[in-house]
Amino acid sequence: MTRTCPYCGEELGDATPESGPDAKPEAGNVSVCFYCGGFLFHTSPDEVRILSLQEYAKLPASMRKELCEVSARVRKFQFNRMLSHAS
Ligand SMILES: [Zn+2]
Repeated sequence: MTRTCPYCGEELGDATPESGPDAKPEAGNVSVCFYCGGFLFHTSPDEVRILSLQEYAKLPASMRKELCEVSARVRKFQFNRMLSHAS
């Protein structure tokens, strides 16, 4: 089964679970889309959906900070990549 980002439609082979880049995500994990920086909730190891704002609010502050930092890094990386193709 293929996991696809509900925000951008990209396949999520490279999604990074909070437990580490090489960890297999489990149901209940939260991760960040490598392509658009969207916050994802794993309903099973092979399925994700959009993390709701209510769910985000319930996460520990340290995890929220981590998710925001990863998301910001992803968006910066992808923006720079697009910029390099635009010139
Ligand atoms: Zn995405």
